[in-house]
Amino acid sequence: MAQSTSEVVELYVFKKKEVAIVCPSCGLAKTVPVEPLRTKGHWEVKAKCTRCAHVFRISLNFRKYFRKAVALQGQLLDAAAADAPVARVLVRDISMEGVGLEVQDAERTLSSGETLVLQFPTAEGEQMRKDVELKSVRGDRVGARFVDRRFDPAVFAWVSAK
Ligand SMILES: [Zn+2]
Repeated sequence: MAQSTSEVVELYVFKKKEVAIVCPSCGLAKTVPVEPLRTKGHWEVKAKCTRCAHVFRISLNFRKYFRKAVALQGQLLDAAAADAPVARVLVRDISMEGVGLEVQDAERTLSSGETLVLQFPTAEGEQMRKDVELKSVRGDRVGARFVDRRFDPAVFAWVSAK
């Protein structure tokens, strides 16, 4: 029963800080803390089953299970126009893949499909910039997805914040 090591096992978030990993070969379930995975710095990590030694990949997937409600003041900027301000926004929720925004003050009409820069505070109080693609625009509610999908510790700090 040769198993491919390229198979990907989704990591399910249990309680904010822990995830359950199930070995695809023998079914052994293990609960592990999420925190040490941050240092891996990758969206996907390798794991080895402690019972059957099967090697498989784990994909960190927080989106379906974890969308953190926040209230962060941010700004949408147009990088193609020397960072011209496009809108003042309130970041209402954040996941590893994107954000939900409430537009408070827009310089122009926003359209889905356009890519802008979202500037908003890190958990440490500094400012970070993320390229976002607007996926849905409904009135003052905008759903946006991070263009760079690699694991970002600064985003994770918000998603996993207490
Ligand atoms: Zn196993």
